[in-house]
Order: sequence, then structure tokens, then C-alpha cells
Amino acid sequence: EEQRLRLPPWLKRTIPMGKNYMKIKEQLRGLNLHTVCEEARCPNIGECWGGGEHGTQTATIMLLGDTCTRGCRFCSVKTSRAPPPPDPNEPVNTAKAIASWGLDYIVLTSVDRDDLPDGGSNHFAETVREIKKRNKNILVECLVPDFRGDLDQVKNIVNCGLDVYAHNIETVEKLTPFVRDRRAQYRQSLFTLENAKKINPNLITKSSIMLGLGETDEEVETTLKELKQAGVDCVTLGQYMQPTKRHLKVVEYVTPAKYKHWETVGHEMGFLYVASGPLVRSSYKAGEFFIGSILK
Ligand code: SF4
Ligand code: SF4
Repeated sequence: EEQRLRLPPWLKRTIPMGKNYMKIKEQLRGLNLHTVCEEARCPNIGECWGGGEHGTQTATIMLLGDTCTRGCRFCSVKTSRAPPPPDPNEPVNTAKAIASWGLDYIVLTSVDRDDLPDGGSNHFAETVREIKKRNKNILVECLVPDFRGDLDQVKNIVNCGLDVYAHNIETVEKLTPFVRDRRAQYRQSLFTLENAKKINPNLITKSSIMLGLGETDEEVETTLKELKQAGVDCVTLGQYMQPTKRHLKVVEYVTPAKYKHWETVGHEMGFLYVASGPLVRSSYKAGEFFIGSILK
């Protein structure tokens, strides 16, 4: 059997828990909200929930259930061809819970729902409207699927009153068929991002790339360029971590110096912000970056 790569020191990290984190955890109790931050045991929870320099706290909520119609080879979410139907009360209940929670920036995300005629886009949009109705100051990012390239679904999201439209390209073009579900295509992802921006040029758009899957520097640079050409404003880069033995192996642990390099390259290309580091996830301190680079 092949040897697995050893975990480098920069990825061995204990989760720092600030006092804001404890406060939020206390508020969360009883709200019946499922955060990706807690469920995925994200190492950034102290930083995201704690708020940084700008005191802007970020959390990520999962909508539309825990079962995906796709099966990407890097992802440990459950898969089924026919997941249970969405909970019709979820938009209102989520919005109520978020309003009483008092965070500044919420990322709403979901599994892919290829089983639903609208891909779940109306459910997303309704959740955003319910949140904004209760608190118009809360910043909302939707991290959405590719909706199979269906622009009616993209439009549902773009026009719902959100602040940031995010869709993750995940990897470089060459590796896409080996990394993502076969229904996910590199060009299709670029297409939805480009059109989200065309439908509403004032909207902030965002995407994310995992590193360490065997991509070359040249391919990463090309991906960044193509995201920029598609009008994407913000980009994040982070290390791929193998969730279980059955998932894709890590090919390389990319060094912190290389992440710094991509941050510089991204800034030179003109992205509004670039979050790049071994532990960065697509929603990493999203509120802090938004306040620091977009609202400044
Ligand atoms: Fe939550 Fe995303 Fe921050 Fe992790 S990176 S703590 S999932 S908001
Ligand atoms: Fe995981 Fe998203 Fe792929 Fe579904 S579409 S398997 S949730 S990465």
C-alpha cells in the first residue's frame, strides 16, 4: 500500500477558542441551527466566530438537508439520487434563528440538489429574503451549486437581495473530471460565475480553489486568470485535506510560502481580496475580508 504523506507542522493546529466564540456557542444552544463550522469541526471557528480586526463575525449554515445528489471525490457529504424533500419551514426558521443570533456575516450553502427542478434556488432565495426582512444589515453570502448551468436558477439567486454570490471552481481544469462529480464541469462553473456578474454587475462574486491535488503552478495561475476574466471579485485558496481513506489522496502539502505567492499574484491580477493559506476554507473570515476590502 502506498504511504500517505505526513502532515506538515503548519497543519497541526489546535482550535483557538476566543471569548466571542463561547458567547456565540451559548446563543446557538436551543436555536436548532446547523453550522458547517461546528459539524465539519472547522479549525477556523475561533477566528471566524471571534471576529478579527474589524470585529466582523462569520458563520456558515447548511440548507436543503445533509444528502447530496452528487458525489465529488474530495467531499465526505452523504450521497443519494433521491434525498428527502426540502423542509418548507427552513427559510423562515433559519432566518429567525439567524436574526436572534446576532452575527454580522452569514454564508448560506447547500448540497447539490439535481433532483429538484429549480436546483433549490428558490429555497435559497427565500431564506435570504426572510433574513434581510428581519435584519437588513446582516451581510449574506450564498455559496451555491452550478445549477447545471441553468441561468434561470442563477438569476433567482442573483436577484434575491444577497451581498455575495459564491461558487467554487474547486480545482484546475485538467483535474476537474477526477476531483469533482462528473456533472460538475470547469467551464460550466466559470459560465455561472460570469453570468451572475452580468445579470447584476454590482454584485460581489467569489470562488475558491483547493491546492495539493497535483495541479501545477501554471495551471493555478491560469485558473486565477480565468476567474478574473469571468468577473470574479474575490478568491480563496487552501489545502485539500483527505476526509476519509476512501477519498482522493493528498498529492502535496503546499507550503505557507506558496500560499503567500498566490496572494501576491491574486492581488496583482486585481482581485478585491485573496484569502490564501493552508487552513483557508472558502468562507474563511469572509466578513472580515468583506469589511476590510470591499466596504472600506
Ligand atoms: Fe465556519 Fe467557514 Fe469559518 Fe470554517 S472557515 S469556521 S466553516 S465560516
Ligand atoms: Fe460535496 Fe458539493 Fe460535491 Fe455534493 S456537490 S459531493 S456537497 S462538494
